Amino acid sequence: MESVTHSILLSPPDVGPDEAAAVARALESGWVAPAGPDLTAFEREAAARVGSPHAVAVSSGTAALHLSLLAAGVGPGDVVPTSTMTFAATANAIRYTGARPVFVDSTDIDGNIDVVLLRSVLRRLRDGGQRIGAVVPVDLLGHVVDYTAISALCDEFEAPFIADAAESFGSLHRGRPVGSFGFSSCVSFNGNKIMTTSGGGMVFTDSPDVAERLRYLATQARQPVAHYEHTEVGYNYRLSNVLAALGRAQLRRLDSMIERRRAVRTAYRDVLDRIPGVRVLGRVSQDQHENCWLTAVVVDPDRAGWAASDLARALAAADVESRPLWKPMHLQPAHAGADAAVTGVAESLFLRGLALPSGSSLCDDDLDRVLSVIRSVAG
Ligand SMILES: *Cc1c(COP(=O)(O)O)cnc(C)c1O
Repeated sequence: MESVTHSILLSPPDVGPDEAAAVARALESGWVAPAGPDLTAFEREAAARVGSPHAVAVSSGTAALHLSLLAAGVGPGDVVPTSTMTFAATANAIRYTGARPVFVDSTDIDGNIDVVLLRSVLRRLRDGGQRIGAVVPVDLLGHVVDYTAISALCDEFEAPFIADAAESFGSLHRGRPVGSFGFSSCVSFNGNKIMTTSGGGMVFTDSPDVAERLRYLATQARQPVAHYEHTEVGYNYRLSNVLAALGRAQLRRLDSMIERRRAVRTAYRDVLDRIPGVRVLGRVSQDQHENCWLTAVVVDPDRAGWAASDLARALAAADVESRPLWKPMHLQPAHAGADAAVTGVAESLFLRGLALPSGSSLCDDDLDRVLSVIRSVAG
């Protein structure tokens, strides 16, 4: 076996000479501000990619969610059903508005929100006289929720839905790009995501009025007069022009980066699907074309004879990074006492799941190194 020479990371940023040149050009242009031609072009190009008429670039995926909730009119007294199996940002953004999240458990196949359970939650909330401000489904690790079913459900209950597509940019649902669904869709360009602006995010919406409201709130809610008139509280959430230049260079490489992550997923499947008690999280489906942001393994310790934590330890010993799935929000002390519809599936996935190195810069030798550790644990 080859000697261990460097650490292998979970999902490092994949940037190179194209990105460096784009950032240098933006600096040389003099547009070192949260406005400029790269920002405008980045929004236009990302909107075209998603097939959405409007895109608003912001400083993070969290800001995208926060602004979307505000634009949907979500505020104190409202309830907002969302997936319990998600990154903290989803729940935090809901809490920023003063609304209360209602955490809904997952389906075992991909960890995404259980739509049948969501329906019963919506009925309970409505019958209990609560105002459902919005519904926030999350595409876990790039696995796409059933947007068709969720759209129909939200129409039935007359609640807007805001897609947390932070992890699924570039994925498709029935051939239609993620980002084009709902009241709005929010993506993240954080350093570990499928593409990055180092830190950043974007909101996509069909509505010109919503897009205008998002831009206004993101720039301190400044009225269009010279003396800086403000009739409500705003935020400083715009993406900078320099980072937008980085985003444009990444967007041009998005397809090839997704292609690599898909090849990594396939290589993991070839090994993991043969091991008893072990599976790759998510389904292979015609309906969902996934960006394969992170590949996660789910280990049933009774059938496999070893646990996800054993694999995590062996990988760490070989200087390979792995990470448990998100700890469900209903188990987080920050949200103690929150309303939740719990079946135990998300908690079980949290205990049995492990995300594996999935970056688009993962080379074949490094992938082989990860696979050989997996083989050695599986015996
Ligand atoms: C990354 C992420 C966010 C937040 O994005 P940032 O750009 O880090 O603020 C929100 N939701 C989910 C599910 C995420 O994975």
